[in-house]
Amino acid sequence: MSESRLREQMCLLAKSLFDRGLTHGSTGNISARTEDGGLLVSPTGTSFGRLDPDHLSRFDASGTLIGGDPPTKEMPLHTAFYDTRSSAGAVVHLHSCHSVALSMMPDANPDDFLPPLTPYGLMKLGRVKLLPFFLPGDPAMGEAVRGLAGKRSAVMLANHGPVVAGKDIEAACNAIEELEDTARLAMMTRAANVTALTQEQVQAVVTKFDVEWDA
Ligand code: ZN
Repeated sequence: MSESRLREQMCLLAKSLFDRGLTHGSTGNISARTEDGGLLVSPTGTSFGRLDPDHLSRFDASGTLIGGDPPTKEMPLHTAFYDTRSSAGAVVHLHSCHSVALSMMPDANPDDFLPPLTPYGLMKLGRVKLLPFFLPGDPAMGEAVRGLAGKRSAVMLANHGPVVAGKDIEAACNAIEELEDTARLAMMTRAANVTALTQEQVQAVVTKFDVEWDA
C-alpha cells in the first residue's frame, strides 16, 4: 500500500472508531508500519475524529522522527509490540468503555481477560492478557508488553484501555472492535448465569483457526 493511501486509511478507520463511540475526546492512538520499515503514528493530543493524514508522526526504520507532529506519549506501548512481534503491521489503543469496565471487576482474570463467549473473540484475539494499572505514558507499560515476549497480540491495561496488534491496520482495528464487543457482551450478561463456550468448544476453535493460545 502506498504511504499516502496508508495515511488516509489510518485516519478513516480512526474516525470510524471515534464516530461509534469506541474512544472519545483526544484518547486513543494508532500506528502502522510503512513499506520502508518506518512507522506512521497518531500525534500526541489529537482526536481520532479529526486526524490529519498530512500531520501524522513519521518515523524512519531506525526509529528517528523524520516528519509530522510529535507522536503519542504512549509510543513505548506501540514499539514494544513491533519489537516483539515480527508479524505486527499496526497497533491500535482505545479508551473503550466496556473493556475498561470489565477490567475493574473483582473477578477479572489477569491471564485470560475475555470470557469465551463467542468464537470470533477467540479467533481474532487469542488469549488476552490483563496488565495492571500504570500511569499514562509510563514506559513501564511498554516493558510489561515486552515481558510477554510477543506471545499475545492483545493486552488490556486495567482502568485504562485495550491495545491490539494486527498484521495490518484493518486487522488491528477489526480485532480491537471484537475485544470491545466481547467485553460489552460480558458486562451485559454478567448478572445472568450465561451459557459460555465450553472448554471443548474453545479448544475446537483454537485448533480449527490456528489461534495463538499459549498455556
Ligand atoms: Zn491510553
